[in-house]
Amino acid sequence: MTERNALEASKTGVQKLYSEEKVLGYILLQKAAGRSLRQIANNDFGGCVTYGDVQRAMHGVFPKRPQKRLAMGLTPMRPAPACPNCGDVHTKKTCPAQHKPCPPRLAIRLDDPHSAARSIRRHMTTDQIAALVRALEE
Ligand SMILES: [Zn+2]
Repeated sequence: MTERNALEASKTGVQKLYSEEKVLGYILLQKAAGRSLRQIANNDFGGCVTYGDVQRAMHGVFPKRPQKRLAMGLTPMRPAPACPNCGDVHTKKTCPAQHKPCPPRLAIRLDDPHSAARSIRRHMTTDQIAALVRALEE
């Protein structure tokens, strides 16, 4: 079956089901009504879906081939490109491995110079404080 036929089958099928839970619910409902897996596969989902696919779907294992997924009313899955930086596939556009740690920040009270001095002494070395004093005097 071509992809075009699968697309048409999903459009002219019983209904668009979208999610795997809905497909599973539909299959279980049809099975409870006494229909065979072959009947469900052939009449509801189209030629490319076999009774084995319906049986696996009953156990929560859904087909990966786009034609079969479309015929079952599911969204087709495609291989996602791996990230050139870390080699993983992520859902976000930014790479979590590329995330740099934030530079340390310090809140200084501007209204109290003694408090500001205490905060700076607590977080900076004497060399860093000397460099800061030089920068302030420039
Ligand atoms: Zn990455």
